[in-house]
Amino acid sequence: MPERRLESGELLAIGTELTVGDTRDTNGGDLARELTTLGVQVGRLVALPDELAAVTDAFAQALTRADLVVSTGGLGPTPDDLTREAIAAVFGETPEVDRDLEAWLRELFQRRGLVMSDANRKQAWLIAGARALPNAHGTAPGWWVDASDGRVVIALPGPPREMRPMWREHVVPSLLARGVGSDRASRTLRLTDIGESTLVELLGEELLRSRNPEVATYARADAVDLRVAAVAPPGDEGHERGDARELVESTVRELEHKLRDHIFGRDEETWVDVLGARLGARRLACVEIGTGGHLTALLGSAPFVTFSELLASATVFAHSDEHLEDYAIHVRGISGADVGVAIRASDHGGDTAVSIAIATDAGTSRVSRIAFLGGDEGRRRAAVAACAELWRRLDAAPG
Ligand code: ATP
Ligand code: MG
Repeated sequence: MPERRLESGELLAIGTELTVGDTRDTNGGDLARELTTLGVQVGRLVALPDELAAVTDAFAQALTRADLVVSTGGLGPTPDDLTREAIAAVFGETPEVDRDLEAWLRELFQRRGLVMSDANRKQAWLIAGARALPNAHGTAPGWWVDASDGRVVIALPGPPREMRPMWREHVVPSLLARGVGSDRASRTLRLTDIGESTLVELLGEELLRSRNPEVATYARADAVDLRVAAVAPPGDEGHERGDARELVESTVRELEHKLRDHIFGRDEETWVDVLGARLGARRLACVEIGTGGHLTALLGSAPFVTFSELLASATVFAHSDEHLEDYAIHVRGISGADVGVAIRASDHGGDTAVSIAIATDAGTSRVSRIAFLGGDEGRRRAAVAACAELWRRLDAAPG
């Protein structure tokens, strides 16, 4: 059998209940995550009805692109369960009842006091190159099929409670033994005070279109994330493959240079992590006006927050920014915190006006800005703006 490292994968979710919307395909997402963790690049997730021609065609097409094709569903005993038939058709094989598998099934039914019907016999089918994956939670064994060109097809049952243990106990160990995934690396830069469109302009199309390393932007609730991912580049003739990590790091260095002012965190870091690190031993107290408590929600139960008060949660609050600094100074004083922050959000014609006052022993400052969008989303963005402002100010005035 030819050696083929399983580096690319596609997922097929089979079942008419999926294509009519009665059932949500959770298997696809679950397996996509699993494969990605194993270093397999997932090219597609497809849902298909219980139709032999459609399913056969989908397997055949996926096998022209991917090293590994994993399906879920259609392994039951009923005539609409057609996954085995489809795989057999793709490989030009005729399934045959496997004696051992049939004996196992028969015993399973006997133990439950049931008689195995003729329909169940197809659950004991195998084709050349296929082996059965035991199902500890149902009657449908899965299939692991080694194709003659080194590609692999794996058919798993549809019900997640059967699929997951089979994947974990019988598929993952075999994949690891078989050689799966490529050398990959990724880093995420977490950005603030920059919109996705500005970012795209700044980075340029060429970088954002490059495939290796791949640079992608994601607008998250608390940041714009910039993810740099790479696979080990193929080496020149006679040389070993390049290093994925080095490729990512050199791109990250380039981006750091361009975006220095906006990078507040890396990888999994949150505002709580970043502000916690900046505050060190110092403590923070907050007053919120018109934010609906979003700043407290964002900073959660961070150990550095000693005091937090929601003064007014109205969307439109007929109060000016005039005393905002006083609130910051006051909350710092009454709580004994090192840093006091007061934030006020108000409607601003569909967007949200936000003012942030910060009091430290070095003095008090106030800034105003407009957060994109109104309503609750605007109030949440106002709270993120306060985190960003704290992050900048605390850098300027350590200790
Ligand atoms: P069985 O032996 O139970 O018939 P099967 O392999 O034939 O297993 P299906 O008949 O396709 O599986 O699906 C059975 C049930 O499993 C569905 O009704 C649904 O509840 C669940 N299921 C199937 N596919 C998915 C999926 N992709 N995501 C989430 N749930 C699914
Ligand atoms: Mg079924």
